[in-house]
Amino acid sequence: MRTLEEAALDASTCTKCRLAEGRTQVVYGVGDPNADLMFIGEAPGFHEDKQGEPFVGAAGQLLNQLLSEVEVPREAVYINNVILCRPPGNRDPFPDELEACQPWLDERVAIIDPAVVVTLGNWATRYILGRQISISRVRGQRFPWNGRTVIPTFHPAAVLHGGGQASSQMVALRADFQEIRSALAERPQPAEQQLGLF
Ligand code: URA
Repeated sequence: MRTLEEAALDASTCTKCRLAEGRTQVVYGVGDPNADLMFIGEAPGFHEDKQGEPFVGAAGQLLNQLLSEVEVPREAVYINNVILCRPPGNRDPFPDELEACQPWLDERVAIIDPAVVVTLGNWATRYILGRQISISRVRGQRFPWNGRTVIPTFHPAAVLHGGGQASSQMVALRADFQEIRSALAERPQPAEQQLGLF
C-alpha cells in the first residue's frame, strides 16, 4: 500500500470528474495518518477550497470546540470529506462525481485504518452506511462498518444554522462527542500495546 503522502500527491491532479474544472485545489484531508478517529463530512466549501484544508470555516471552528471539550486534540484525528473538490455553489455532488471520488476515500480509509469513523450529517451518513436513514434517528449510535465502528452525528454547519450553541441539536452533538470518546477508549488495542500493560 502506498503512503498517505503519495496518495495525496496523486489526488492533487485528479481530473476524473467535472469538479476538477471549477476547483481552486483538491482538498484531500488533514490530520494524523495513523489516527484512530476519522471524521467524514460532505464536500469542501468556499473556505476549504481556497485554503486546501477541510473544515476551516465556521463548521470547523465548532468541530474544534467539540473536540477540545472531550479532550481529543485536532492533530490526533483525521478530517476529510466524501468528495475532494468543491461542487459549484455548494450543490450536492452528482452520482458520477461520487463514483469517481470513491476510490480516493476507500484508499484513505485503508491507509489510515481508523477504529472509529464519525459521519457528519445526513448526507455523509447515508453515503457511508448505504442506507436512506435520517440523521436524527441514528445519531449517537454505533454501527459496524468494514471492521470499524461508525458513529453518525449532526453536521456542525447544520447545528450552527439551526439554533447554534443554545439549541437542542447542540446538546445532542455534545452527547454524541461523549459517545465518540467512549468508543475510542474501548477500541481494540494493537497487540504490542496490550503487551505493554503487563
Ligand atoms: N462542510 C463539509 O462537509 N466539509 C467541509 O470540509 C466543510 C464544511
